[in-house]
Amino acid sequence: MAFDIDELRVKPNSNLDLSKIDPSGTPEWSNADEDGGSSNKDAGKARGLELNQRLEELQELLYAEGKHRVLIVIQAMDAGGKDGTIKHVFEGVNPSGVKVAAFKAPSSLERSHDYLWRIHQHAPADGQLTIFNRSHYEDVLVVRVMDLVDKDRWQKRYEHIANFEQMMVDEGTTIIKLFLHISKQEQQERLQERLDRPEKNWKFDSGDLVHREKWNDYQKAFETALEKTSTKDAPWYVIPANRKWYRNIAVSEIVIQTLESLQMEYPPAPADITEMHIPD
Ligand code: ATP
Ligand code: MG
Repeated sequence: MAFDIDELRVKPNSNLDLSKIDPSGTPEWSNADEDGGSSNKDAGKARGLELNQRLEELQELLYAEGKHRVLIVIQAMDAGGKDGTIKHVFEGVNPSGVKVAAFKAPSSLERSHDYLWRIHQHAPADGQLTIFNRSHYEDVLVVRVMDLVDKDRWQKRYEHIANFEQMMVDEGTTIIKLFLHISKQEQQERLQERLDRPEKNWKFDSGDLVHREKWNDYQKAFETALEKTSTKDAPWYVIPANRKWYRNIAVSEIVIQTLESLQMEYPPAPADITEMHIPD
């Protein structure tokens, strides 16, 4: 059965209640069973490998055709799986045509400009697929929750962002926005793992605990951001992300089906190619 990505899409002007979306769910995954048992997981992982191959082909085509620009925005709570998604979903793509831009807390130079200044310069060029690991959405998420600028300033940003993205779409960029939705308990387990496993210690950031205390405020901020900026041309998708194998399938399906909708073609062969021979 086909995976209907529309089921995960946030409809424009809808009311979003994240507490009603199960982070352990596996919607549209036909082999799903109640407890997501190991056979389900194995089948899911196998499907993930098939999807990797398909994505590899489509990205090659995107690069060869050199006509479309694709931007994928990934947002999540800390330990939500942004890095893991990028690593697994895009395994095997041609690095020449793919870029990842990670947005940390802005530098003093960046802060001396408007908040979109640092973002725009990383937008994809023709033939390129760019992944934003965090993005301009931080400016209505962490900024709102941690009170980094006044409310009357961040409140205007939803409209700026929607307009900014619409401009990019109108100029030839395809935009996909992904919210990796994990539960508070899943975050606890993942952060604890960063403490417990020496090879994960480097990922631990005590600042994450400060954000964790504001979990509910963040969920609210995500709801508002997704409601106000999920448009027909630049849709948000909520990905249940407690189960990494399902998360990878869902993200792959969304990226693949969106690329397929572009109906890309390899550029035509140069004239007279059939007459040509490569000399000894
Ligand atoms: P990981 O999930 O592996 O920890 P990360 O994306 O959290 O990766 P970090 O360097 O740990 O990377 O964190 C980046 C930090 O930068 C986050 O706390 C984020 O909220 C913050 N940040 C990003 N953009 C902004 C912004 N515009 N204003 C303030 N803080 C920001
Ligand atoms: Mg972090």
